Order: sequence, then C-alpha cells, then structure tokens
Amino acid sequence: MKEEHKKWLEDHFGSMVVFGEPMSFHTTFGIGGPANIVTIRTDQQLKDLTKWAYENDQPIMILGAGSNILVRDGGIQGVVIKLSNGFDAIERLPDDSSDTHMRIVAGAGVLLQKLCNHALNKGLAGLNFALGIPGSIGGALRMNAGARGKSIADSVTAIGVLNKYGEIITTRKANLCFSYRGLELEEGSFILRGEFQLKRADPVALRKEAAQILKKRASSQPMSLHSAGCFFLNPSKGSSAGKLVDMAGLKGLRVGGAEVSTKHANFVVNKGGATASDVISLTQQIKDSVFNKFGISLEREVVIVGEETPPQESLQE
Ligand SMILES: Cc1cc2nc3c(=O)[nH]c(=O)nc-3n(C[C@H](O)[C@H](O)[C@H](O)COP(=O)(O)OP(=O)(O)OC[C@H]3O[C@@H](n4cnc5c(N)ncnc54)[C@H](O)[C@@H]3O)c2cc1C
Repeated sequence: MKEEHKKWLEDHFGSMVVFGEPMSFHTTFGIGGPANIVTIRTDQQLKDLTKWAYENDQPIMILGAGSNILVRDGGIQGVVIKLSNGFDAIERLPDDSSDTHMRIVAGAGVLLQKLCNHALNKGLAGLNFALGIPGSIGGALRMNAGARGKSIADSVTAIGVLNKYGEIITTRKANLCFSYRGLELEEGSFILRGEFQLKRADPVALRKEAAQILKKRASSQPMSLHSAGCFFLNPSKGSSAGKLVDMAGLKGLRVGGAEVSTKHANFVVNKGGATASDVISLTQQIKDSVFNKFGISLEREVVIVGEETPPQESLQE
C-alpha cells in the first residue's frame, strides 16, 4: 500500500488500523499472510472508509470471526474491515407485543454464540441449531450458517446493509435471496445488522436440547483443532461430503501441516504450521480422489481470499 494511503488510514483511524497484520491471527484456521486491518466502530466510519477505498481504488473486504475463510499465504491487498464494539449490541425491537414471539436485532459483529445464549436465557427458540458454530452475525448471514436441517435464514426477518453507494438500507426477508450456505449480496455491500423473530418456548426444554446439540457437536467434530469447519458443501443428493471423503479413504491424508481430520472427514485441520498452499493442495487431492472414485465434483464451502505471493511493493519494504 502506498504511503499516502497508509497516512490517510492512520489519520482517520489511529490505533484502530494495523498494517501487515498476519491473518493467521484472525482466522480459526490459523493460516494467512499479511493484511491491513481497520477496526470499525460506527456506521459513519464504515461509510467514510468505503467511500475512500472506492475513490482511491483500494480493494476492500470485510471479515467476521474468520471461521469460514482461508487466506492465501501472500495476504490480502487493500483493506480488511473488522467490526467492533459499535456492532455488538443485541436489542429487543420496541414494537414487539406478541405473546408467542420476540423480535430482536443483533449487530453484525455479535458472535453467533452470544446471540444463541441470549435466546436461551430469554427462553426463545429458533437458534439452538447454531450452538457451537463459531462466527459473527454478519458472517452467519452471508454464509447462511446452518446445521441439523436448519439455517439462519429460517429466523431472520430483515437485514441492514451499507451498499456501495454509501446508503444504509433495510431489506426484508421476502427480498433476500438465501441459498444453501449463501446469501446473494450486491457487490460492495456490507451487512450491518440482522433482525430475527424467535418463538417463545419452554426454557427447560430448550436447555435440554442445547446440551444435546453441543454434546453431539463435540463428539463428531474436531473442535479443539484449527479449521474452518466443513470444507466442502454437501452434494444436493446422496452421501454427505464428509461421508464421500471418508469412503474414499482420505481421513488422515496430509500435506505439510494440513490434514483431513480423522474425526470428521469434511474438516481440514491445521495440525501446526500449515500454509494456505498446503490446504489448497490437500483439498485439490480430495476433490480429485472423490471425483475419480464416485464421479462427484465436490464444491467448496470455505471462502478463499488473497494473493498467492505477497505483492511486489511489500517485498521491497
Ligand atoms: C469448528 C467449526 C465448526 C463450524 N460449524 C459450522 C456449521 O455447523 N454450520 C455452518 O454453516 N458453518 C459452520 N462453520 C463455519 C463458520 O463458522 C460459519 O460459516 C460462520 O457463519 C462464518 O461466520 P464468520 O463471521 O466467521 O465469517 P468469516 O469467515 O469471517 O467470513 C465468511 C464470509 O462472510 C463475509 N462476511 C463476514 N461478515 C460480513 C458482513 N458483515 N457483511 C458482508 N459479508 C460478511 C466475509 O467477507 C466472507 O466472505 C464452522 C466453523 C468451524 C471453525
């Protein structure tokens, strides 16, 4: 990044900007080259930053909790946005008067687990499926996070977005296009908050269900190892991606520090010192092997961003 651009960022964001920060510190994979990260507290700051980025031709992307992302080893050019304090509120919507439901709004920076626990504490059903999914509300909406046949799209009623024209708009559910692990978003748009409608339910029954869900997750997923969750999407019919990888005999297959989990075959885990190119090479081998054995082409769930090698300018610095 040019010095004049660094200066603008420093002048406007002070200690909230860091240059050349390893993305391995910001992703659950623990992998990724350097990026310039700006932590944003308000809608206005986000507006100012995106306007500057477009005017100065600086690439810009937003990161949630970094739990579904693989950053290449050369890092990310331009600016990576992280949302902080100002985006971590959970509020009850004032117009709520229903005995059966409660409507709440959560900032995009709220951790999904925080929202799930909030719902549990209030005796609200609709988010228990997401217990144990690490991620932010922004990332969960963008990826339509789901499990056990349910997804975040089931309980969302609207989202607030900053669009590329610098306008903050609210889009109701009827106009949102969710799909399996995805939400169509206009390019250059950033999710600021989500509105949810949750059903009042028996708190004791909810807690019992929550304990079962967490127990199941802990027994079937390598929760203590660095990963980005399921690497591949499940095919639309037939066996799950994990089952196919398992049937292909790939559990434990390793490239460098990246390994196909021995606990859950659709998880690629960083056993220590894995690079993005280790993961990419391993997952290509998985794809090839599953295709050769079953004729099924696995599609990636994990988002891959960044450069294979650092940009020339940072090599010279
Ligand atoms: C152990 C483990 C278990 C997991 N289990 C599940 C599971 O059961 N089900 C499931 O669906 N996922 C699962 N995941 C994947 C992941 O947790 C979810 O996809 C999560 O919702 C991603 O949220 P995030 O905030 O971490 O997004 P990130 O990984 O930070 O980002 C993902 C994408 O969303 C975009 N994004 C993030 N915030 C915003 C925003 N505010 N506006 C616009 N775009 C945004 C990013 O640019 C990126 O393209 C698991 C991951 C791990 C590590």
